[in-house]
Amino acid sequence: MIAKIEIDKERCKGCGLCTISCPKGLVKIGNEINRQGYFYVVWEGEESCTGCALCGEICPDIAIQVWRDKK
Ligand code: SF4
Ligand code: SF4
Repeated sequence: MIAKIEIDKERCKGCGLCTISCPKGLVKIGNEINRQGYFYVVWEGEESCTGCALCGEICPDIAIQVWRDKK
């Protein structure tokens, strides 16, 4: 793994902006709802996330944090 993201599911409003911003299609609307009643996003990128941070930058609700390995 060279990068990972963390999704704050309670902040997510399920707008889908991050899902279309990820060049690798690693962020998807999930099947579960949060306390606000929104279907929040899930990440399926353990193997191939590059840490580009496009998903985190586009989120209007600051629900995604991106972590990169220093190497
Ligand atoms: S950091 Fe980049 S590659 Fe990783 S999930 Fe976000 S948009 Fe996709
Ligand atoms: S851009 Fe933010 S609020 Fe919208 S679906 Fe993604 S994580 Fe949720």
